[in-house]
Amino acid sequence: MPFADCYISDEAQAAALRVLRSGWVTTGREVVAFENEFAAEVGADHGVAVSSCTAGIELALRSFDLPAGSLVLTSTLTFCGAVQAILHAGLQPVLVDVDMETGMPTPATVRDAVRAFGRPAAMTIVHWAGDPADVSALADAAVLSRDRVVVDAAHAVGTYTGAIPVGSGCGATCFSFYATKNLPLGEGGMVTTDDPDRAEWLRRARLHGMTADAWRRYLPGGKWRYNVAEAGLKANMTDLQAAMGRAQLTHLPAWQRRRAEIAARYDEQLAGLPGILLPHRPSPADGLHAWHLYPVRVQPADGIDRDGVIAQLADRAVGTSVHFIPVHQLSYFRRHTLIPPGGLAGADALSEQLLSLPIYPRLSDDQVDAVGAVLADIALGRFSRRGRQ
Ligand SMILES: *Cc1c(COP(=O)(O)O)cnc(C)c1O
Repeated sequence: MPFADCYISDEAQAAALRVLRSGWVTTGREVVAFENEFAAEVGADHGVAVSSCTAGIELALRSFDLPAGSLVLTSTLTFCGAVQAILHAGLQPVLVDVDMETGMPTPATVRDAVRAFGRPAAMTIVHWAGDPADVSALADAAVLSRDRVVVDAAHAVGTYTGAIPVGSGCGATCFSFYATKNLPLGEGGMVTTDDPDRAEWLRRARLHGMTADAWRRYLPGGKWRYNVAEAGLKANMTDLQAAMGRAQLTHLPAWQRRRAEIAARYDEQLAGLPGILLPHRPSPADGLHAWHLYPVRVQPADGIDRDGVIAQLADRAVGTSVHFIPVHQLSYFRRHTLIPPGGLAGADALSEQLLSLPIYPRLSDDQVDAVGAVLADIALGRFSRRGRQ
């Protein structure tokens, strides 16, 4: 049983073929349509399709036009690319510790970072695993307005904060369509924003800084002349990806329902197992979990250790992963980020315990039960006696 699954629906395959046969493969009308449909899905005014969430975070931060080296707060328990993006934008990441229960920063850990290094110019907020973060409380703790917040929504296609889907209300929200994510295309990303000027800026900046309609110049009657007024990246999305994305989007509600069912089934299977703690669940008032990940905690105090559990699950052909190695444990980021003098003890302790189980819409109830049974064997000490020789 693999850890992840990249399901490209029949409709998305057909859409891809339609685009390949159309004679127009890169950024064009499909991208415009996908931007509009995705933005509507997440309740944002504008969507700007990009090559990856990582590029989206960099572009969103660049759109703030901050002085070089300005401080940007980020959780240390995130994907390395999200912190590379801050560095590539010419800004200084400040790492924030996380809570053991939620895997995310709290107002208190944000205030610790601000006390150590001063007020930041911006922050990124990740809805880790798909669990809604309290964006307002974290922004307030950083003394930042929400329009200086970039939401890393790589896990949050399908997350709601309160009654509102993740996608609006901050400076920018960046989604990922990487192969393992909730709306998989293989590669791709989307930046949503309510600010029309920011959306326009992002549309230019994702394609070399060329004037917004650059792609139209190859259409019949299109104008060849363009201007470049500022720095840009090569980070556009192709029509091939966008057409697939439009088709995948029609499946999203059913996929999200299935993820929630799987999470509930794991909860039942694993409840009460010694040494296994279930993932944090938001209260209904806090919002809706997207269940991109199902991260359990393996408690070392109970005599089983996380790495041993990974090996034993692998022996039974169950793929797992760890989200994440805190970035301050990676040597490049130790050199290039600011780490509060007291260290990042919450992330250090939690990351030793984290174990992400398989969760994706095509995982069957039988497969979930099989993972649960193997974990129960391990947790109850039956596996090593029965399994190995
Ligand atoms: C996957 C991921 C990213 C990067 O997404 P890409 O589309 O691959 O660039 C960023 N942040 C988090 C938290 C992720 O899990």
